[in-house]
Amino acid sequence: MQVVILGNGITGVSAAIALRALRPDWGITIVSGESTYHYSRPALMYVFMGHMRYQETKPFPDSFWSEQGLELVRAWVQRIDTEARVLECLGGTKIHYDRLLLATGSRSNKFGWPGQDLMGVQGLYNLMDLRLLAANAERAKRAVLVGGGLIGVELAEMLKTRGIGVTFLVRETSYWNNVLPPEESSMINELLREEGIDLRLETELGEILDDGTGRCRGVRTKGGEEISCEIVGLTAGVSPNLSALLDSGIPCGRGILVDAQLKTQVDHVWAAGDCAEIVTDGEGGNLLQQVWYTGKAQGELVAHSLAGEDVSYTPRTWFNSAKFFDLEYQVYGSVPPQKGEENQHFWLDKDRKKSLRIVEKDGRVLGIQVMGMRLRHLVCEAWLNEGKSMEYVLAHLLEADFDPEFFSRSLIREVQA
Ligand SMILES: Cc1cc2nc3c(=O)[nH]c(=O)nc-3n(C[C@H](O)[C@H](O)[C@H](O)COP(=O)(O)OP(=O)(O)OC[C@H]3O[C@@H](n4cnc5c(N)ncnc54)[C@H](O)[C@@H]3O)c2cc1C
Repeated sequence: MQVVILGNGITGVSAAIALRALRPDWGITIVSGESTYHYSRPALMYVFMGHMRYQETKPFPDSFWSEQGLELVRAWVQRIDTEARVLECLGGTKIHYDRLLLATGSRSNKFGWPGQDLMGVQGLYNLMDLRLLAANAERAKRAVLVGGGLIGVELAEMLKTRGIGVTFLVRETSYWNNVLPPEESSMINELLREEGIDLRLETELGEILDDGTGRCRGVRTKGGEEISCEIVGLTAGVSPNLSALLDSGIPCGRGILVDAQLKTQVDHVWAAGDCAEIVTDGEGGNLLQQVWYTGKAQGELVAHSLAGEDVSYTPRTWFNSAKFFDLEYQVYGSVPPQKGEENQHFWLDKDRKKSLRIVEKDGRVLGIQVMGMRLRHLVCEAWLNEGKSMEYVLAHLLEADFDPEFFSRSLIREVQA
């Protein structure tokens, strides 16, 4: 049996390692165009800022793959022939498979803005983007970033370390307010301004301006204002990377459509991670999960499915974390951006750098969100899974390593009020 995995991100390599353990005698090949060896994508910013070397972003030594009997092929796949079961690569190489796992990840969104393909305009997703950014940064005094989200903040921090001024165009009335409730969103607005970022809310990109040589010289907003810059960062989210699937006959929606076993509708093809759209009939529609730990979980699960076992993907309680400059952010479970029927309890410390939000409905805590602190993942996950009440969570917050100073000063006082 020859299994080919397209993509060496966290999903592809988690699948390969788990499948090797299950099927020691199967051929397993991992194909990827970006790099020969797997590296940690979330660490890209630290390489740029000089906090890590590229070598240190690789979780496994280079010898690991051959020791595991995993063949690595560096190639860009242009076409998938599902009849012949062949991957056709740039340069003409063909790779045969018996079973195929698509783990192609995401790509940066581009919404057809005039000038979006000029030199100096780029996203931040992969190693090619990082190299481009290093080159673009050499000649830049100002960058304009488009779209408010987590990658935009990372890019702002990266550019700031090179002394490049950053203007941030955000369409919404407040930063990331389609995800964050108003209070946390305001905390980020304030933080960005304190960090010297020129944050322009309710401002949309109209066009990117050409300097006459094919390089950007600035942007014009929809309101008509011109802002000079040498870099335009397109950070308006990501979408599943379906570039290899054209003409393949593999059904896609927003992502590659798969069932709970992570199988596509084509018999010998599976998909997992950022690129997969899991078809569900539950409320909330299909599931697109585009974070690190879900890629790992789906990769490990799909290995069992590839091996022929009858398994089904059950998402863990939602978790996400990020850093806005030095401000930590963590969310567990469901914390809606707008208040609905549920009870919400929110505490903010007086310097507006730490907050805690707990969401409760029908006596069960549904979500917990913190800014400026970290909580213990397993503890919070257990509280949500066990349907603990607000009273229980408040009484046991210290078990989640909750900041004792904040706890005693602000929170207890308010709870008791
Ligand atoms: C800058 C940045 C920071 C992030 N930080 C965090 C974070 O802090 N926490 C978090 O949870 N998530 C973070 N994410 C998201 C996280 O990195 C992704 O969810 C995760 O990498 C998805 O893994 P994957 O294996 O599904 O896809 P990917 O990591 O995208 O890997 C897919 C691979 O397939 C290759 N590929 C695709 N098509 C082809 C083709 N046709 N031919 C050959 N190769 C191909 C790609 O080049 C890529 O190497 C971050 C993402 C970015 C871009």
